[in-house]
Amino acid sequence: MVATGKGASQGVLIKGGNALEKAHKVKIVVFDKTGTLTVGKPVVVSTMVFSDMPIQEFCEIAAAAEVNSEHPIAKAVVQHAKKLRQQYGLNSEHITEAEDFEVHPGSGVSGKVGDKLVLVGNKRLMAARNILLGTEVEDYMSESEQLARTCVLVAVDGRVAGALAMTDPVKPEAEQVISFLKSMNITSIMVTGDNWATATAIAKEVGIVKVFAETDPLGKADKIKELQLKGLAVAMVGDGINDSPALVAADVGMAIGASTDVAIEAADIVLIKSNLEDVITAIDLSRKTLARIRLNYVWALGYNVPGMPIAAGILFPFTGISRTKNHCTLKIPGDLLDILTLSKR
Ligand code: ADP
Ligand code: MG
Repeated sequence: MVATGKGASQGVLIKGGNALEKAHKVKIVVFDKTGTLTVGKPVVVSTMVFSDMPIQEFCEIAAAAEVNSEHPIAKAVVQHAKKLRQQYGLNSEHITEAEDFEVHPGSGVSGKVGDKLVLVGNKRLMAARNILLGTEVEDYMSESEQLARTCVLVAVDGRVAGALAMTDPVKPEAEQVISFLKSMNITSIMVTGDNWATATAIAKEVGIVKVFAETDPLGKADKIKELQLKGLAVAMVGDGINDSPALVAADVGMAIGASTDVAIEAADIVLIKSNLEDVITAIDLSRKTLARIRLNYVWALGYNVPGMPIAAGILFPFTGISRTKNHCTLKIPGDLLDILTLSKR
């Protein structure tokens, strides 16, 4: 109770003693990429249209499909469409919403914009709908990935109409946190739904060696279970709906404060300040609390082991002192004695 209170005062919300107890055993911390290791505010840096659709119409369609999504990528697409409007001298901020909107966690979104069926997402989403990419699209994607950009494809009526590439910088504290965890004998791993090239580039930037990329939400949970099979306690740090199964599967699930409600609900610990340094705070708090509890056991044992035989009169043969009726030296205040005597009568 004291530790959870201390944690809360430092912005680490621990949901009960179980999470606090498990956190001291953690040997592996698995980090999600987008929004956890990265700032989570991607910005569109390049757009490519593969059809004869005007670029503004293309961005409007993509934004209409994304406007109801909570994903950081969706926010970047909407923001980009708004910026383009300003460049074209249009003042309206209103984005038309797609009908039949659907979220595909870890791969993208879909919906109907006017009479067009629109998909916005990654290669996996396109493959699931049997949409062919073509060499032009593949080339643009690998070019973006080499630059550590996340490339999002937009398909209209079953054909890739264009793509948007975005960058999302890593959090300033990320590298230091990973190296500090290493000094605590804790291995850091990255798991992401993004492509391998971007994931590897980001991992290198923060000092993570082991990466699992192109994983869907259930795949993330499977990776956690695989690591647990090695007999190691695993913590998962994430922010999205797509991280929720992994947050539940982990021994300790940590959601950063800026997470979606589903992730916060699924986690055992919430890092309110969204600062990765609090991963260390949570583990350190758990280690110190358990050490203190053990020390308290030693004190209690040290006091009771000699104390109880003495209370039972083990020293009587040597000292002549025992806690019998005649020898009791307990001083009872006069008033209390009166009450006791009266009640006895
Ligand atoms: P991470 O695991 O890094 O947090 P996600 O699992 O949320 O990433 O997403 C994995 C990939 O799925 C993204 O890199 C992106 O390509 C695609 N994706 C997910 N949500 C969206 C969306 N709303 N719009 C476009 N693409 C998306
Ligand atoms: Mg994420």
